[in-house]
Amino acid sequence: MPRMMMETEEKRVWMNVTANQCPGCPSNLATRLVMQVIFETLADQDPIIFGQGCGIGRDFLQRSGLGTHDSACAAMRTAMEIRGIDRPIVVIDGDGQIDMGLADMATAFQQGYRYLHVVCDNQAHAASGSHSTGSTDLLARTGVRPAGKARGRKQFPLMLMFSGAEYVATASTSHHADLERKIKAAVTRLPAFIQILTPCNPSWGYDDDKGIDVSRLAVECGVWPLYEWKDGVFSRARIPRKATIRDYAALQRRYAHLKDEQVLEMEEYVRQQEETMARLERGFAPPESP
Ligand code: SF4
Repeated sequence: MPRMMMETEEKRVWMNVTANQCPGCPSNLATRLVMQVIFETLADQDPIIFGQGCGIGRDFLQRSGLGTHDSACAAMRTAMEIRGIDRPIVVIDGDGQIDMGLADMATAFQQGYRYLHVVCDNQAHAASGSHSTGSTDLLARTGVRPAGKARGRKQFPLMLMFSGAEYVATASTSHHADLERKIKAAVTRLPAFIQILTPCNPSWGYDDDKGIDVSRLAVECGVWPLYEWKDGVFSRARIPRKATIRDYAALQRRYAHLKDEQVLEMEEYVRQQEETMARLERGFAPPESP
């Protein structure tokens, strides 16, 4: 029987998710950061964190099974309500999990179950051969798509924004202050969803110490916008455009096949994504002061 995180001797719970992940695994780093912020911020409320993913606590975190984490959250909230208990619930998993559990997640959010769902998005089923998920980006090569994925990723936060979420956001471990602020905002606006970009060393094909660099380039070239839907307002972090798609792709073997016209295709993909974000920002602007 695995031990619950809070029962560990030194109670440094966020250190306890090391379970033979690759050195420098960004999902593992993100999981530790989330756990640290949650356990420090909600210490007096006895939070429950569970979940599963290739870089996420593998053997240590409790889990409910593939694609069932959101129905587990709904069941836990219901069971707690019957018993008169109110403890915060946070689930951390990967994009493969939410792809498989999308119906459960959208329904749990639409029905207003109060929990925070954090996804560490490595755009691959990394534990089982790095084949693509619904979150794999345009033209990225995966285990079963040597020519690259033809279409862009599903936009999970935007789906949930219109499915009952009180808070959604994207984040990146390369911008940890932004990530920390978003976790704190999310726990007071439930149900909430945060999607953290977490590159995967073998699936994306970069050196073990380059995870943060790849994450930062994703944000700075615009392919991974940092945005937030909070209190009815949609907003984006203003990130200076310091990198290009070529800079971002150059560090990753999953883009080694790109030709010039495909780089242009990705640039157009980023441009269209930015246009969507700008429209959302205009459409869900803060109310004008009287
Ligand atoms: S395969 Fe990817 S997600 Fe899994 S432990 Fe390694 S870097 Fe992390």
